[in-house]
Amino acid sequence: MTMMKAVNPANGELVGSYPELTPGEVGKKIDNAARAFRDWAETPIEARAALLPRLAEVLERHKERYATLMTVEMGKPIQQSRGEIEKCAWLCRFYAEHGPGFLEDEVVKTEAHRAFVSFRPLGVVLAVMPWNFPFWQVLRFAVPGMLAGNAALLKHASNVPGCALAIEEALREAGLPDGVFQTLLIPSGMVGGVIEHKAVRAVTLTGSNAAGRAIASQAGGCLKKSVLELGGSDPFVVLEDADLDKAAEAGAASRLFNTGQACIAAKRFIVVDGVAEAFQEKLAERLKARKMGDPMDENTAVGALARADLRDDLHEQVERSLEKGARSVLGGVIPNDEGAYYPATILTGVHQGMPAFDEELFGPVASLITAKDEAEALDIANNSPFGLGANVFTEDLERGQRIARDRFEAGVCFVNDFVKSDPRLPFGGIKESGYGRELGIFGIREFTNVKTVVVA
Ligand code: NAP
Repeated sequence: MTMMKAVNPANGELVGSYPELTPGEVGKKIDNAARAFRDWAETPIEARAALLPRLAEVLERHKERYATLMTVEMGKPIQQSRGEIEKCAWLCRFYAEHGPGFLEDEVVKTEAHRAFVSFRPLGVVLAVMPWNFPFWQVLRFAVPGMLAGNAALLKHASNVPGCALAIEEALREAGLPDGVFQTLLIPSGMVGGVIEHKAVRAVTLTGSNAAGRAIASQAGGCLKKSVLELGGSDPFVVLEDADLDKAAEAGAASRLFNTGQACIAAKRFIVVDGVAEAFQEKLAERLKARKMGDPMDENTAVGALARADLRDDLHEQVERSLEKGARSVLGGVIPNDEGAYYPATILTGVHQGMPAFDEELFGPVASLITAKDEAEALDIANNSPFGLGANVFTEDLERGQRIARDRFEAGVCFVNDFVKSDPRLPFGGIKESGYGRELGIFGIREFTNVKTVVVA
């Protein structure tokens, strides 16, 4: 029997070990999902929605246990783990209140007796999810997806199997019927087989670009819908009229949240010449002030990275950038302590052709780039294969909105704050950051058949 192991990245200790499913067991779970879907889709949406406040209560009831599980499996500071569970409860209550309205039939005036659009469920949807927000990423797909009447299968990241099972348990405790949500403890090599199964109608992935390419081609090969939420290298543009303290505070919070392992973290700080030195100083002050250490410690702001191999990959990207001429003015050295720690780091003199510019740095490393003016800053911001989030800081709100709306090539753009996800607002990227949207009205409609009905 092959075991899936969760290892605490802060100390290398084994947290749990779980048997992987065999192909036969996976097949049974897919059949179970297909059966459950038939009744679930027929259940009135009000009854499906009634389950969500109960799920919110279950999450709140077990908040400490779930938060601890996340922290020991992937190193997130415990305060942030608790915040993640609270945000999931908010998501549940938001969709309980607004989801049924988002899916109401829409009448369209034509010459027919009646014409309308109805949002019908697709069937069984597979979700392939990452470890960085182990509860949030899963529920932000599953809550609207199941409210719309679909059944869900979860293939979670292999380093958070305890979280994967805990989510299934929470849904069961909230009263979700058997088979509507099931966790598949399988390695990534078995994902293609699940996508190909005829009962599986669609797949959503949140993860790296490499996984995105593999899953999109498998889904494309059998003509199934896919949604991809992939990586990013978000620009954080600071203009000459920005409030530099506000910008530095937001920049540090964004770059260090989740120990730098967020798809929408500010990664490339693009600052106009006149304020570059002052901004760098203020950013460094704030990065230094945030304490790195044991993720279970209440005062820790920067925990361990999720796995030792990911820490090593990050350091290698930093070293390659230094070889190409970047300078490390803070951090950049692996600490001697045990655990997958990496310090808050600032690289200056970053430009195209360096990993710190061209690739996603998934950890607490800020790349600083200077630009002569707004036009050059925006060219640099958009000169990226990614297009997930983008931030701009300026005290001229009209200017900020114009840049956010008309100039940034990205899906989620914030003026004078750092990019955050919010159940009320659509979330997703363009270019190599993926396609499709989660959250808000767009997220709940993503896995529906937008069905036209005409009564002549
Ligand atoms: P990852 O290595 O791509 O893993 C994500 C999921 O995909 C895991 O469940 C993984 O399974 C699976 N997977 C990996 N390769 C696969 C393949 N070839 N075929 C099928 N499944 C495959 O990403 P990660 O390191 O966990 O997460 C970090 C990445 O996610 C970053 O790039 C980040 O920016 C992105 N992300 C994006 C968003 C967004 O909303 N846009 C949000 C959060 C994170 P195993 O664990 O078994 O390999």
